[in-house]
Amino acid sequence: MYFANRQSGASLGLSENSPGLADPARNGNLRLEPATRAGPGEFEGLVRRQLELLGENPEREGLRNTPERVTKSLSWLTRGYGTDVREVVGDAVFEESHESMVMVRDIELYSMCEHHMLPFFGKAHIAYIPDGKIIGLSKLPRIVDVFAHRLQVQERLTEEIARAIEDVLAPRGVGVVIEAVHLCMMMRGVEKQNSKTITSALRGEFRECPMTRDEFLRLANRG
Ligand code: ZN
Repeated sequence: MYFANRQSGASLGLSENSPGLADPARNGNLRLEPATRAGPGEFEGLVRRQLELLGENPEREGLRNTPERVTKSLSWLTRGYGTDVREVVGDAVFEESHESMVMVRDIELYSMCEHHMLPFFGKAHIAYIPDGKIIGLSKLPRIVDVFAHRLQVQERLTEEIARAIEDVLAPRGVGVVIEAVHLCMMMRGVEKQNSKTITSALRGEFRECPMTRDEFLRLANRG
């Protein structure tokens, strides 16, 4: 999907010192190039047709500007396709000898499920154990957004965030927990309003060391 108002993705000119980021097949970090570029008004036309097929009259006053609004809104909600981790992290990686767990809890997260294109939302908890490098704390939410603002499944989103942090920092370990509710479950299908989906991705010491894992999961579940 391509939106005319999105900046065209120029080549990133990745340098060799971050091999992990240079392999989109491995980590999905790179800005994705659209397979097809929409012509002017093409996306709006599709939304208008969708309204007709739903039995609506796209010409009535309340709907007249809806195709344009939906196009802009979807472009915003999927803006992660136009960004990549390298770009949002910038130069906010610092040499530091700190060796204990660093954790940011309760990072707000909004995404859209790729099966129904309906929102899912909740919180991400991220922790890592540095190995000589730390990242500016405000960058963790921005890494979440790079991947959340694409069509997703919660499982992959969790893994992609963990892998991105691993690639950027090469830490001794990283853990990501996401708890989210899915409108595709709440509004349709099983109509389960109160069920939360929890996913986790554990790497390095978070996977290998039971004490580290327990500490992280205890902190993550304290909400
Ligand atoms: Zn869904």
